[in-house]
Amino acid sequence: MRLDHKVALITGAASGIGRESALLFAKEGAKVVVSDVNEVAGAETVQQIQAQGGEAIFVRTDVSKGADVEAAIATAEATYGHLNILFNNAGIFHPADGSVLETEEAIWDLTLNVNLKGVFWGCKYGIPALLRAGGGSIINTASFVAVMGAATPQIAYTASKGGVLSLTREIAVEFARQRIRANALCPGPVQTPLLDELLADPARRQRRLVHIPPGRFAQADEIAKAALFLASDESAFVNGSTFLVDGGITAAYVTPE
Ligand code: NAD
Repeated sequence: MRLDHKVALITGAASGIGRESALLFAKEGAKVVVSDVNEVAGAETVQQIQAQGGEAIFVRTDVSKGADVEAAIATAEATYGHLNILFNNAGIFHPADGSVLETEEAIWDLTLNVNLKGVFWGCKYGIPALLRAGGGSIINTASFVAVMGAATPQIAYTASKGGVLSLTREIAVEFARQRIRANALCPGPVQTPLLDELLADPARRQRRLVHIPPGRFAQADEIAKAALFLASDESAFVNGSTFLVDGGITAAYVTPE
């Protein structure tokens, strides 16, 4: 029970990495606030947690809206008394996000509003709650694309994740003496609904696969386990990190044949 007596709020917990993390955090004893814009799938995550004997509630939240995020944090404290873990995981990858030459302003704004401003809101309203609890752990989801470029561009997504990385580092330093840790979780490509459309195309799939040393994409539970480590007291001296969980993509020049 690595998260016994802890309360965790996870955004984007209706799917993929967020849902796997919600299930795992609950198994480890946390009470989980499942936050997502998708009410049906969010309620399913809560049911799955309850089915495994855990405690959870769903709060409908659009992370790009400050008032929604403020209300979700307030609900977490009102329901469970305190907040210890804030996992700002919600994110989008729009199919019309491509080269800087072609990407429309609306796609840029939408992506930055969810992926970067959503994390800003989470920290802005979540940090005071963590301080009231005597400290806590913030996990902000960036990506390996925050630290390397690709000739298969997704300019708004990449820029948003670079922003998450820098924002997280600064928060990690500012609040370090108030018992708050903040780390940027940087997954490599993960087989989740976010990438379904892209990975369904054999050519686009192979174009990426060749760069991944183990020769496969990550599974959501492998990322959730890293999030669990960052959430738990086992990572007590891990702060401000670019926490890569990428199968070695960022270490590779030439991968095995
Ligand atoms: P996913 O699509 O399976 O889940 C994302 C969840 O976020 C969904 O439940 C969706 O409803 C929710 N969401 C979308 N917009 C929202 C909003 N405005 N407010 C609240 N919730 C919203 O995706 P995933 O792969 O689990 O991605 C989770 C995070 O991991 C994202 O930040 C993503 O960018 C990041 N990431 C994913 C990969 C990957 O390859 N899948 C790689 C690196 C980083």
